[in-house]
Amino acid sequence: MKNLKLTSLDSAERGRTVISVGDVRIGEGFTVIAGPCSVESEVQMIETARKVKEAGADMLRGGAFKPRTSPYSFQGLGIKGLRILEKAKKETGLPIVTEVLDPRDVSWVSEFADVLQIGTRNMQNFSLLKEVGKTNKPVLLKRGMYSTLQEWLNCAEYILAEGNPDVILCERGIRSIETYTRNTLDLAIVPAAKEVSHLPIFVDPSHGTGRLSLIEPMSLASMASGADGIMIEVHCNPNEAICDKEQAMSPQMFSSIMDKLRMLHRAMEQISHNDGVRKLEQVI
Ligand code: PEP
Ligand code: MN
Repeated sequence: MKNLKLTSLDSAERGRTVISVGDVRIGEGFTVIAGPCSVESEVQMIETARKVKEAGADMLRGGAFKPRTSPYSFQGLGIKGLRILEKAKKETGLPIVTEVLDPRDVSWVSEFADVLQIGTRNMQNFSLLKEVGKTNKPVLLKRGMYSTLQEWLNCAEYILAEGNPDVILCERGIRSIETYTRNTLDLAIVPAAKEVSHLPIFVDPSHGTGRLSLIEPMSLASMASGADGIMIEVHCNPNEAICDKEQAMSPQMFSSIMDKLRMLHRAMEQISHNDGVRKLEQVI
């Protein structure tokens, strides 16, 4: 691929990128980010945070600034939402992943966020990319819903070129002819991205499918595809979710997915161990 001076696998001086966020090491093992689509209230956020932590999530998500398709939909609580996230972090110890929409907000949102999220609609907002590239916070860069891998990596390149090496790619589904699912989750992009880039890659099966029933199989498939982690929308009271209710998952369902992910992880370790032994036998 052309012009990937900093993001290509060939350009990696120290192998694949591993990003430390508190005690979490992104790019080593499998990391799970969970939490509601948007921060709605202190009670909602703290309760959800406690439940996802109990189930084994590594990081907490929640939007304080929401990029809504309609200007009349709930736009998020803004600064009030960030203060609530701060409390949820204090309460659970979970690092915060939250979206920033506007280049003018980047420096102060960075004071609350452990990871800055760039949403699909802003993937090619180059002034926003340059601004997050000047911070020292890791950036979760979602794939544009109409973007190719080359275009996506070019956007990651913008961030690295400003001096911030910590970019996490996140596949969240692309637009296709399919209407049954909200988006078409492109899981082949996971091993594809790993073939060309050293950056870690996550999957968001919540926005990727928009259907609660499809999130578990796609979470397991994400792990099987070699993703470094997933991001799932979880709400303490899914029926009341203000935003993305159709895909809002209960903490109970999330906890059951976490159990299955642990089992799959063990099975995958066994497969790679057996692979290693087989290769060794071929050498001997
Ligand atoms: C989100 O994760 O809150 C979100 C808005 O996702 P996307 O940008 O992928 O639509
Ligand atoms: Mn959402």
